[in-house]
Amino acid sequence: MITLTGKKVSEGIVIGKLVFYKRDERENRRIYVKDVEKEVQRFQKARQKAMAELKELYVTSIREVGEANAAIFEMQQKILEEEEFVDRVVNIVVEEKLNAEYAVQTTAEEILKGVEGEGKEYLQGHGADVKDVALRLLQILSRNWKDRLLTDEPFVLATSELYPSEAVQLDKSKVLGFVTRYGTINSHTAVIARTKNIPSVIGLGEALKNDYDGKTIIIDGFEGKIYIEPDQTTLAKMKQRKSENRTQIQNLERLKGKENITQSGQKIDICANIGSREDIESVLRSDAGGVGLFRSEFLYMENGGKLPTEEQQFQAYKLAAESMGRKKVVIRTADLGGEKIADCLDLGGEKNPAMGVRGIRVSLDKEEIFMTQLRAILRASLYGNLSVMFPMISSVAEVQRAKLLLGRAGKELKAEKIPYNEKIEVGVMIETPAAVMISGELTREVDFVSIGTNDLTQFTLGMDRGNERLEPYYNPHHPALLKMIRIVANNVHLENKRISICGDLAADPEMTEFFLQIGIDELSVAPGEVLSLRKRIREIQ
Ligand code: PEP
Ligand code: MG
Repeated sequence: MITLTGKKVSEGIVIGKLVFYKRDERENRRIYVKDVEKEVQRFQKARQKAMAELKELYVTSIREVGEANAAIFEMQQKILEEEEFVDRVVNIVVEEKLNAEYAVQTTAEEILKGVEGEGKEYLQGHGADVKDVALRLLQILSRNWKDRLLTDEPFVLATSELYPSEAVQLDKSKVLGFVTRYGTINSHTAVIARTKNIPSVIGLGEALKNDYDGKTIIIDGFEGKIYIEPDQTTLAKMKQRKSENRTQIQNLERLKGKENITQSGQKIDICANIGSREDIESVLRSDAGGVGLFRSEFLYMENGGKLPTEEQQFQAYKLAAESMGRKKVVIRTADLGGEKIADCLDLGGEKNPAMGVRGIRVSLDKEEIFMTQLRAILRASLYGNLSVMFPMISSVAEVQRAKLLLGRAGKELKAEKIPYNEKIEVGVMIETPAAVMISGELTREVDFVSIGTNDLTQFTLGMDRGNERLEPYYNPHHPALLKMIRIVANNVHLENKRISICGDLAADPEMTEFFLQIGIDELSVAPGEVLSLRKRIREIQ
């Protein structure tokens, strides 16, 4: 048995088979595919994407290196359009029933072998381009990583680092838990693991070896430990722990329907944070008072290369609104950028993405995309108690602009005779020190305010929430942060408005008394944390 210790991210015990997801190694294995039509489509989609990328590269390269040098990207586009190339790949997939990666790799090798001998003029001297094109295709194909975990059995996922855009796509019915070599407990990947309640341990380092692929693993998400090929004693102990946990959860269930009230009668609301339609069910089961934060950017991150349409978003928000009945649902407009990357939206390279074009800055920069989202939210507002909230605010002007666009979306709908709730409430997130300092002015612009302690911590301390080396210094209980929260709460209450906390700190039992003391109105936490927080509140004097 091998025991490794990492960082705990999401609690729970799971026992299963370890499957390594090797993102960086191309999957050129021969894999038999059942649905060849789907596989051909997968190849064609990757080909279209590669052509679009090359077209863009051609345009930017003309500017940077001149037309003559940029011509290689035109040449590479031509290779992708060549009938011979396309037919060969498709033939391998259809005739031999094999995966697209293998077909692309084999075709490129065959073409390269034949270039000289068969006098293919269009390819003379372009061996390197064929290789380059094949590599691009393979990379695109591997981006759709879900296809690569070709197993029907539930498993424990292992990888070097799991990105938020991947974590958000984890199918809970298949992925029992995950373990990684790197990553931080404050990252969005960690947030997603907690929201989806997927037991996980991260930061196991190089000790997490590829050789463990296929072996039995136990994740102890309570202790941040994993056991590879556990012995009988450990197995029995972990099974026991698992059943104790089940009992604890069952005991918490007794708190359903009860108030979030302290012994001395002070009340506070508890809502839940979600990221996708699948999480709605967990919110309903958790008995939360509503959805305090719908991280709508996940709809963009899980939609592959295409932007989610107005209709698609409308359906997701409507489902949330309808499922929650009279309980509120706060849709946060897309907080993209930073480590939240969506394939469907090219934000360009940035030296410092955490402080770059993100949150409301993306929305105001890409108004058309923002308008689509605002229209979808307004349309869905008719089906329940929906409100809208803007992320990563740093000035009053941003809020005014966002509100103006919301008003414009409303006018458009009116002109189209599409009904919506004209009194929809609007809120802002306080995630930057600037927003803290002008929280009074910001509050006057809106109906409610929510503090995003995850980002507020990183910007207050000036420490990247994703930097492992800073973890020993990354202190969400830092007095500066607590002072900021107090300042915001006071400023919001002076305006007679409601203040909530929706960052991870909201669920921290050591903070509950402080939040009650300063009169926070609502705490919004992962669905799985609602009842334990209720228990904590009910124990306080
Ligand atoms: C936060 O920053 O606290 C927050 C709730 O937003 P996110 O974690 O999605 O950045
Ligand atoms: Mg944030």
